[in-house]
Amino acid sequence: MTVNKRAAKVSEESLHRIFTIPVAPNSTLGRVESEISQNLAGFLGSHIAATEQALSEIEKDFADSQIPEDPAFVSDHMHHLLDKLVSQSVHTSSPNFIGHMTSALPYFILPLSKLMIGLNQNLVKIETSKAFTPMERQVLGMMHRLVYQDEEPFYQQWMHSANHSLGAFCSGGTVANLTALWVARNNLLKPDGDFKGVAREGLFKALKHYNYDGLAILVSARGHYSLKKSADVLGIGQDSVIAIPTDENNKIDCQLLEEKCQQLARENIQVLSIVGVAGTTETGNIDPLDKIADIAQRYNAHFHVDAAWGGATLLSNKYRPLLKGIELADSVTIDAHKQMYVPMGAGLVVFKNPASVAAIEHHAEYILRKGSKDLGSHTLEGSRPGMAMLVYAALHVISRPGYELLINGSIEKANYFAQLIEQHADFELVTKPELCLLTYRYNPSSVQKLLANASDVEQENINVLLDKLTEFIQKRQRENGKSFVSRTRIEVQKYQGRKTLVFRVVLANPLTTKTILQDVLAEQAQLAQESERFLPLLLSMS
Ligand SMILES: *Cc1c(COP(=O)(O)O)cnc(C)c1O
Repeated sequence: MTVNKRAAKVSEESLHRIFTIPVAPNSTLGRVESEISQNLAGFLGSHIAATEQALSEIEKDFADSQIPEDPAFVSDHMHHLLDKLVSQSVHTSSPNFIGHMTSALPYFILPLSKLMIGLNQNLVKIETSKAFTPMERQVLGMMHRLVYQDEEPFYQQWMHSANHSLGAFCSGGTVANLTALWVARNNLLKPDGDFKGVAREGLFKALKHYNYDGLAILVSARGHYSLKKSADVLGIGQDSVIAIPTDENNKIDCQLLEEKCQQLARENIQVLSIVGVAGTTETGNIDPLDKIADIAQRYNAHFHVDAAWGGATLLSNKYRPLLKGIELADSVTIDAHKQMYVPMGAGLVVFKNPASVAAIEHHAEYILRKGSKDLGSHTLEGSRPGMAMLVYAALHVISRPGYELLINGSIEKANYFAQLIEQHADFELVTKPELCLLTYRYNPSSVQKLLANASDVEQENINVLLDKLTEFIQKRQRENGKSFVSRTRIEVQKYQGRKTLVFRVVLANPLTTKTILQDVLAEQAQLAQESERFLPLLLSMS
């Protein structure tokens, strides 16, 4: 018998070992660990395959539904992970990948993350997190102050108050938005006389008690789909999220917003919340928050600002004015895992009024006792990791002026890229950057001229072909693996609001250089020439 493969065995002793014996530095896992500590970019660059495999191929590697009966040596398993999983993952931190909202992470995050995992605190209650609870409350206080800029005594009074909360930390913008709307719903349909409140009696009885024929959430057509999920979960229904058209700058049309509010009032439908978007996911534009605040107040609606992506802009004194009016919001969502360079799983919502979270308070006898400072009494999620520590560390290590440099740099880079696009005869800038996000497409100059003078029908035919060309270029570029931009479909005013396919670029990675941007554009122009169907067709029309 030839033994060419060691076999691991299940035994109490081997299990004891995995809990007590560290990974040897010269083992596979040990080498991976030291490599990622010393050169993460190099490690990712060499282990993530440049050219991608079809998902259907990858699925074959993950086809077995049986839980293994035989244990694996961790080094063998590490090889398996590198081979099948890491190699086919996405290089989100590559400076050439400018299509995502997540980018490179600073190095100090790696050992700190490991410490966080090692500590394995559970923020649901103080018993399992101790100092992590006041630390998280401080982070919420800092982010609250960033948004609302209240005075020192306000924070002294409320930051660590047991029965109040300046916000809620959670896994991301989706849960943050849901939490904000949950608070809004429960405050609107609060206990009143014999009625014990929507939290106890449910939506059906609440609407009957308050004599409403329905509730609505109003947001611009560029609102994030997490709002629909929230409306669904809160029992309000996705169709009650009403999309208000935007102007040519992708900002909510306040005239139409006001008219919708009037119409709903006539129909006896209460506006639960008006949501302003501060940095739309597709175009990065910011709604006129001060005007929305005014309308929300007149219709007694909770004013929420979804600043999941753009909220970090508040850290820049130069660009903060773009979000003027945000301090009037009843609640604001910010994702630290987007423009604050913290890893995935760090979202938060802050509330103007420290008492408003009382509306979603839950208590349990064994934990979360009334009057305790347990964070779990007003968060949707139960067990939660100490992610706030990474936000805390980033705020201290990078500091506000450091963030300002990063944010200003990203916006200026986006302006530079927009300039490149505008100067190139064969590209069309579709949405100008307000923050560090822009959209554009490849559109040969002769076709651009043709479009300008075409009838509606001709325009449509040309745009259909251009959509196909955009898709072709985007896919080809992704498959080639050198660089990546994303694509989305947005309504373009210039083409009568037609939903048009565009490239979408987010310039948040501080390591992305001007040369990289020039190369991305050059590669796209080159790839367009490889399209054997759409480009020749387009050129033959012009
Ligand atoms: C990303 C984003 C969300 C959702 O946040 P997740 O962290 O992905 O849950 C919500 N709103 C906006 C505007 C976003 O950009």
